[in-house]
Amino acid sequence: MAGWTDDGVPPELEDAPALLETKLGKLCAMIDAAKYITVFTGAGISTSSGIPDYRGTTGLQMTRKPLVALGLSEQKELDYIMPTYAHAAVAALARSGVVKLVATSNHDGLHNKAGTPDEVIADIFGNVYTEKCDKASPHCKTLFHRKVIVPTLGRVCDNAACRGTLRKTGTRMGGMTPPEPLARADEQARKSDLAIVLGSSLLVSPFCQLPFLAKKTVVVTLQETPYDSQAALKINTRCDAVMRRIMAHLSMTVPPLDYTQPFSIHWQQRMDGPSNTWQIRISGDPARPSEPPRCVHSVMARVRPLSGSGDDATKVTKEIDMDDRTGEFIGTVTVPAAHEIALTIEFNSALDPSSALSTTRHISPHTSSAGSEVLEFVKHVPY
Ligand SMILES: [Zn+2]
Repeated sequence: MAGWTDDGVPPELEDAPALLETKLGKLCAMIDAAKYITVFTGAGISTSSGIPDYRGTTGLQMTRKPLVALGLSEQKELDYIMPTYAHAAVAALARSGVVKLVATSNHDGLHNKAGTPDEVIADIFGNVYTEKCDKASPHCKTLFHRKVIVPTLGRVCDNAACRGTLRKTGTRMGGMTPPEPLARADEQARKSDLAIVLGSSLLVSPFCQLPFLAKKTVVVTLQETPYDSQAALKINTRCDAVMRRIMAHLSMTVPPLDYTQPFSIHWQQRMDGPSNTWQIRISGDPARPSEPPRCVHSVMARVRPLSGSGDDATKVTKEIDMDDRTGEFIGTVTVPAAHEIALTIEFNSALDPSSALSTTRHISPHTSSAGSEVLEFVKHVPY
């Protein structure tokens, strides 16, 4: 196609304002007339979140590897990326039943994070947040949706009776696609009278054929695609702009996202002659025992004497380090046992650098105790 670079990167196109307005009006009329709408998303829906497009001129194809081929430490950066306006709007439409299926060629899990129900999403090439148990026994729930990136190797099924091996579902471009999401997307697309493609250059099979199983297809992207002539309408602009217009037309608002991640603090005191040793462990959400506390950036323990007791010897400040293997924070603080002290643990958020939490325990001499507490970090995203 005209204008492509030798590296297979399509040229960017952007409709002039008057033409764009006419096209958006047509799209809104098509939505009003449609009874069964499905949405198909590609990398272009995620670019305004900070994830590079795959085939744009600054895309992953030019600058970096696909997400699924990145190392674990690079993939972990995804945990802190929040859904775009377009993800949030699609989630609102899916929750209200306007959109019946959201099929995506992305691995980034941002549709799940935005609140699109899991059963509405079809991850055509898998998702780096979804693990599958390879031992398909009748008692095993075979798919596990994680909220944080987990290690790739050495993962065992959550079902204690199964103990199968867990594997990430994300596939490399050109790899085997999981059959279930593809079959579901195919079935839903055939039922649709309107399929809307958001941010895909429609170059990867079998994803690229699916939207054209619908009666009408609208393609929204900044690139020329091989399917432009088959589309009922091609809009050359950004996904967020189109979704803002659709939501305004439908008189629907996109609520802010309050993305929460709980984490657990475990305290264990050990009397040790003239000293008290506190073992402190920070783990993840107690409801998700195999996920590390990725929302915690750093942990500091501070010990101070309570008024009237102790002296400078009881003042301790110690950073609690992260265990690289498990992602948990583990450390000990040792203080003289003869004084009343306050032990404060401070947490900095990895989701939001301006956010911090702390918790304090007052400790008397010669008392031994253990316990745990759950706190949570929240990332507020206004749309
Ligand atoms: Zn299993």
